[in-house]
Amino acid sequence: MAFYLLPIKSLFQPRIISKVFTKCIGPAIGSNLLHRAISTTNPISPEFGFMFDIDGVIVRGTEVLPAAIESFKKLVDSYGKFRVPVIFVTNAGNNLRCQKAQKLTDLLGVKISQEQVVMAHSPLKMFKLFHDKRVLVSGQGPIREISKNLGFTNVCTVEDIRKAFPVLDVVDQKKRENMSRKIDEKFPHIEAVVLMQEPAEWDSALQLIIDVLMTNGKLLNPPAKLPYPHIPLLACNMDLQWMAEAWMPRFGHGAFLVCLEELYKKITGRDMIYTALIGKPSELTMHHADNMCQLHARSLGVQSSVKRIYFVGDNLNTDIFGANLYHRYLTRQRSGRSVAGIAAAITGRGAQTCELEMENEDVNVSAEECHSILVQTGVYNASSDTFSNHSPRDFLPVEGGLREPAFCVPDVLRAVELVFQQEKFY
Ligand SMILES: [Mg+2]
Repeated sequence: MAFYLLPIKSLFQPRIISKVFTKCIGPAIGSNLLHRAISTTNPISPEFGFMFDIDGVIVRGTEVLPAAIESFKKLVDSYGKFRVPVIFVTNAGNNLRCQKAQKLTDLLGVKISQEQVVMAHSPLKMFKLFHDKRVLVSGQGPIREISKNLGFTNVCTVEDIRKAFPVLDVVDQKKRENMSRKIDEKFPHIEAVVLMQEPAEWDSALQLIIDVLMTNGKLLNPPAKLPYPHIPLLACNMDLQWMAEAWMPRFGHGAFLVCLEELYKKITGRDMIYTALIGKPSELTMHHADNMCQLHARSLGVQSSVKRIYFVGDNLNTDIFGANLYHRYLTRQRSGRSVAGIAAAITGRGAQTCELEMENEDVNVSAEECHSILVQTGVYNASSDTFSNHSPRDFLPVEGGLREPAFCVPDVLRAVELVFQQEKFY
């Protein structure tokens, strides 16, 4: 166990730096699309590892992509053991890690362990400061069980608030007509909010989460004056859109966050404050995934640490942006500057810090480089005229170069082949 003092703002706010990537987006494919010098050494004991996004890279909805099955045949030996470290980094969050691992195992025909899966909410286990507080968790699926597994001990949901204070939730006329007027006066105060995933009923969630923020979690006894800053708010998964079975991208949790931010601003005149934004593209999530990748290397008996990460994704705004942002973070680390120094340089005076407890993670070992590879089987479509340049509000302004992939290939199979060729690993 290690304690790691992370400068919160530095982990979530990119700043403009000199351009380091050459634009390589386009339909042309091939290993000649190398735009960053990558040093390689011993091909026998791999010093590199993969991180794969899932939706739009491995699967589309419930269907596995044929290229993914072929690529994983190359990644394992004849016994089904991984030849190189492999981690999945998804912004999905409505499943437990073990459920996601089992789903991937079934789809790919290769045994995937939950230790290889990083979900949008995974880094919340480091936010121990909030684990024993009364926390409102918003999302779908087994959010109570997910929260418990992450360490939260005192959780309530939007549905709990609706039941305790039915008169607060009146957008839906049918609910209003049939609702009880009874109020639970003993409902405990809420001390923090965790936005885990997009909720099913956005009207109820938007209304009740804003109520909680505007009352400092004291719904029955709201303060006379708007409490500001409001109680801590942590959000996972900033994806505006994601690629499922449909032929067009669908709303993601980022779309819900945009609605919430705008409503809060319209109603209060103030900016909603995120204590933390977690999931791709945040450096905190990438750092966590890096540690998972190093641990997977060890479990495979690889002698060396993972020096070079190849991140394969379909979304410029999360996968490519996140990988490039993390590469920049690693470069700064390698330049010998302390975390505090990096924070000061990035955020200037007043940088917020939060002590995070990182269990079972060796923070002294991290990669040296992180290279982004864009595939065209998901959100990104080279032939489309539409271009989403969404970035979470707290990541603005964004330097354009952070959205430019180091490589661009048609699918995940070509991505694996490209990396093996680059690393001389056969
Ligand atoms: Mg994706």
